[in-house]
Amino acid sequence: MYLSEPNQCSETASRGVSVPEPSVCDVIVIGGGPAGSTVATRLAEKGWHVVLFEKDRHPRFHIGESLLPLSLPLFEQLGVLDQVEKIGVRKYAAEFWSAEHGKCAAFRFARALDPSHPYAYHVKRADLDHLLLQNSVERGVIVKEGCRVESVNLDIAAGCEVTVGDSDGRTQRWRGRFLVDASGRDTFLSHRLGLKTRNRRHNSAAMFGHFRGVRRHAGEAAGNISIYWFQHGWFWMIPLQDDIMSIGAVCWPYYMKQRRQDLRDFFLSTLAMSPDVQARIEDAELVTEVSATGNYSYQSRSIFGPRHLLVGDAFTFIDPVFSTGVHLALTGAFIGADAVDAALRQPRQAERHLRAYERRVRRGLKTFSWFIYRITTPAMRDLIMYPRNILGVEQAIVSLLAGDLFGNTRIGLRLLLFRFFYYITVLGAPRENFAAYRRRRRNVMTE
Ligand SMILES: Cc1cc2nc3c(=O)[nH]c(=O)nc-3n(C[C@H](O)[C@H](O)[C@H](O)COP(=O)(O)OP(=O)(O)OC[C@H]3O[C@@H](n4cnc5c(N)ncnc54)[C@H](O)[C@@H]3O)c2cc1C
Repeated sequence: MYLSEPNQCSETASRGVSVPEPSVCDVIVIGGGPAGSTVATRLAEKGWHVVLFEKDRHPRFHIGESLLPLSLPLFEQLGVLDQVEKIGVRKYAAEFWSAEHGKCAAFRFARALDPSHPYAYHVKRADLDHLLLQNSVERGVIVKEGCRVESVNLDIAAGCEVTVGDSDGRTQRWRGRFLVDASGRDTFLSHRLGLKTRNRRHNSAAMFGHFRGVRRHAGEAAGNISIYWFQHGWFWMIPLQDDIMSIGAVCWPYYMKQRRQDLRDFFLSTLAMSPDVQARIEDAELVTEVSATGNYSYQSRSIFGPRHLLVGDAFTFIDPVFSTGVHLALTGAFIGADAVDAALRQPRQAERHLRAYERRVRRGLKTFSWFIYRITTPAMRDLIMYPRNILGVEQAIVSLLAGDLFGNTRIGLRLLLFRFFYYITVLGAPRENFAAYRRRRRNVMTE
């Protein structure tokens, strides 16, 4: 099976232009974001010869700047926690603002069931991704930046082979015993294997940019992430270093389709719909271009196959409301590296190891998804605005917001209880909640 896009290196080969003999390694990693650099580092530490290809050159801009507390132990294991502290702004809480309720509810991570990780960080992703990739190099990974993987053959005896184009127009071929796809939203493998599917339960789009001079809260709360609901979705405010505030609007697709102005003006007029947001940005200056990403909720039908595995956004992306993307990428990379290591050591047991990886990743995703799909419903807003800690339910929600889904903290039963409260709340206002449900269904269908 030779999987490539048209007009690529494999075609060049068939036209008779010489393509070099393949170089050989144990593991090939596509992508140098948090998932790729982490899986590569962990595998190199386990003694494998790992080669990672990154199409860009770091540092480069990337969205996804708010991290979760439970990522900190992972940074510690990678040996980069001190460096992350230097580039980060400490985030002690996630706060939700509802103009409808006329109030803000803040969830402090120190109140989680396991209070040992009371904060996380906000980072410029250019800095974070760069330091993670540098760390890979220091741990023995061969990192090749400016190198785009263009095609892959998954049917090589006992392995795979990729064709890579570099920024000077040269072509390389690499053969490995295992391939990890960490290509993010490019979804290299699932796209080529025809496995990529739209998420049938969620659909949204985003616009975002960086501002200078946005009003910050005082004291410890200055680092809080702020989420503001408004009639077409929600906004984020993420405080970064150097007086930069990342601001984004996550909107339903019908709203994005109404755009008649240029993106910058549309973004600014959207922000003006929230008086709370407007009050904080009135003296601020937009210092970057505004970017937009369309319908971004997707999943690959499979997460592994013989001698390959998908990790991070290369497998799935739902929605950024709980800032889960980087945490899922890092956790997936840690669990994935263990699975690849075990599969390489025990090839006959490979499927069992890879299936165990799949189970853990899907379980974490399922838990987050239930909450994400309902985040804009009236019932969820009411519960978030008036949290009650009956039998530790509020603390379990804080643990969820901290990313504590993959360890030993027992939050499952409490989250079930929260779901029970949710449905009771829905029954208390059936009309509004049914209307919200129908609106979500309509939006999921919008292309
Ligand atoms: C609007 C928005 C807001 C978000 N906000 C947050 C947030 O606040 N917090 C959070 O945790 N997450 C957030 N996320 C999600 C987060 O950005 C991602 O989940 C995270 O970056 C996933 O990491 P990754 O390593 O899987 O992919 P990426 O970080 O995208 O890395 C993939 C890498 O692969 C490289 N690549 C792709 N194709 C190839 C190829 N063919 N050859 C070589 N290299 C290739 C790319 O250049 C890239 O560097 C947000 C996402 C969106 C869309």
